[in-house]
Amino acid sequence: HYIQIAIDGPAGAGKSTIAKKIAKKLGILYIDTGAMYRALTYKVVKLKVDINNIEKINEIAKETNIEFRNGIIFLDGIDVSLEIRSQEVTKLVSFVAQIPEVRVILVELQKKVANNNHVVMDGRDIGSNVLPNADVKVFLTASVSERAKRRYLEMLEKNSDLTLAVEDIEKDIKLRDKMDSEREASPLIKAKDAIVLDTTLFTIDQVVEEILNILSK
Ligand code: C5P
Repeated sequence: HYIQIAIDGPAGAGKSTIAKKIAKKLGILYIDTGAMYRALTYKVVKLKVDINNIEKINEIAKETNIEFRNGIIFLDGIDVSLEIRSQEVTKLVSFVAQIPEVRVILVELQKKVANNNHVVMDGRDIGSNVLPNADVKVFLTASVSERAKRRYLEMLEKNSDLTLAVEDIEKDIKLRDKMDSEREASPLIKAKDAIVLDTTLFTIDQVVEEILNILSK
């Protein structure tokens, strides 16, 4: 039996930080599913495909190779870790992630990885759709202002002359939340059996401990 830990929640709730810590502690694979949707979006942007051209995007999705090697994301064999974090990709990713065929392809890929490895996977639909039999399912939340503050500090760390203000990030997070939760084909779903943890109230390490506790039960 392979360990499966599913971590879902909105942008900036602390998913990747927590998932990475757990993966390190357990010595298992961390799969950032958001990075997969971002990688495909990056390819669409790079090929200058109109974001409304769903047929073309589906075609691209079918012939694209996305994989993780040592925690690094490769798009058709090329490391795209930096490119997928650009503002342009961030702005467009929710459109691409909404396309049903795109989701079918990426979800299948995610399931395949989890069938052959111990994994901690983060995203929007992991507990509900990708890994319905996961050993642990957590749904992380945090206030919008807290999430914006965290993203801002994270970006500032990487880029000291950041031109974005925390208000811009808050606006972007609100927009992505809206797109991720209100549209018809909404990816953000809390699994019925997921445990909800508000990371505004708990520290990262407390959440990590809680997840490891649940796993060991
Ligand atoms: O996790 P991150 O914020 O990098 O994800 C980027 C976008 O990818 C999300 O805003 C969402 O639109 C999409 N996504 C998704 N399903 C997932 C993970 C991410 O639709 N499992």
